Amino acid sequence: MSLAKRLKNLGTETAFKISELTFEWKNKGYKIYPFHIGDLNFPTPEHIVDIAFKAIKDGKTGYSPSPGILALRDAIAEDVTNSRGVKYDYNEVSIQPGGKPVIGKFIQAVINPGDEVLYPSPGYPIYESQIEYFGGIPKPYRFLETNEGFKIDIGNLESLITKKTKAIIYNNCHNPLGVESSDGEMEALSELILKNDLYVLSDEAYFDIRYRGKTRSIVSFSGLKNRTIILYTFSKKYAMTGWRLGAAIGPKRIIDVINKLNVNIESCTNHFVQYAGISAIKGPDKDYKNMIQELEERRNIACDILNSINGVRVYKPDTTFYLFPDVTEAMDKKGIKSLDELVFRAIADTGVAFTTRSHFGRRLPDEKRYYIRIAYSGVTKDEIREGLNRLKEWLEN
Ligand code: PLP
Repeated sequence: MSLAKRLKNLGTETAFKISELTFEWKNKGYKIYPFHIGDLNFPTPEHIVDIAFKAIKDGKTGYSPSPGILALRDAIAEDVTNSRGVKYDYNEVSIQPGGKPVIGKFIQAVINPGDEVLYPSPGYPIYESQIEYFGGIPKPYRFLETNEGFKIDIGNLESLITKKTKAIIYNNCHNPLGVESSDGEMEALSELILKNDLYVLSDEAYFDIRYRGKTRSIVSFSGLKNRTIILYTFSKKYAMTGWRLGAAIGPKRIIDVINKLNVNIESCTNHFVQYAGISAIKGPDKDYKNMIQELEERRNIACDILNSINGVRVYKPDTTFYLFPDVTEAMDKKGIKSLDELVFRAIADTGVAFTTRSHFGRRLPDEKRYYIRIAYSGVTKDEIREGLNRLKEWLEN
């Protein structure tokens, strides 16, 4: 008996394949340095955990309304109004089990089969997977490497737009590149969006993970709010990846559709976890500030070691917890022919695990250089020093 034909269009997050590889090596007794997954080795702040326990004891264990509990929708609307500088109400917020479900629900809400969707490449691999799964045509837009890190190639993006282009997925701050848009880049992007009447998914999973300056949301540009869905998540800012709590935020007519999808897919997000979410937003931010300080120190150590490796070059971004070093020359020197070979041999010879450009969407035809992604959110400073120095010694000899 055959399975559904549409499954041929369903992609995956191949970073999890590297996790399987690291388990094998760990089982053989090897020390592994986990730079491959964007998870955090920080505990969820205690006041958030306490409220979750209390909510269970208070009996918040039945279904909640499908759009989420009112108090959390209110709290998120207020948070986004303050941080994005654009007014939102509770009925423009739909609670989700994590940020990830917003991607597929946005596509289901706005895309017909055959519509084209622009998305960043390299970029979070679920964009490509979900666009194709729901019958959209994936249109990857590229980045240019400059002295200030990667920038969206706006000329290339404009050339990809046709009459069939319906939406754009935009991720600021960006996984895996670690970069953010300048005001100028956002301005150019919003002009194109308005001119071509596009819907926008603004993936803001890393909005609060930054070491200096302030993140700006594309919704703050004139005319953007009523065509944009924000992907909002508790995963990174509050070290809550496993709790599965996030939200879709945007115009009520799209949020109503997303609420209907909630009813069909999961009925509601975990009820007592939603109370923990309120505590996260309204509680003290001491743990968040400490986490950002620690992440900044890790970033500095990782960048210094990576840039000291012969044939490796990396830009030091002020956002996210990812680095995207160019390893082309180092691979040449070592006689390594592919990124897959690099990953496999690095784990086997040094225990250092990382993902590569190939884990973030299909390689574009004109790409010549090779990049890896280093996530420093799940490793200690000592592990960074030890692991990346091992990698250095291995690559240089
Ligand atoms: N968007 C981006 C760019 C991400 O990197 C991630 C997770 O790593 C997500 C969305 C989804 O995060 P979550 O589902 O944990 O909220």
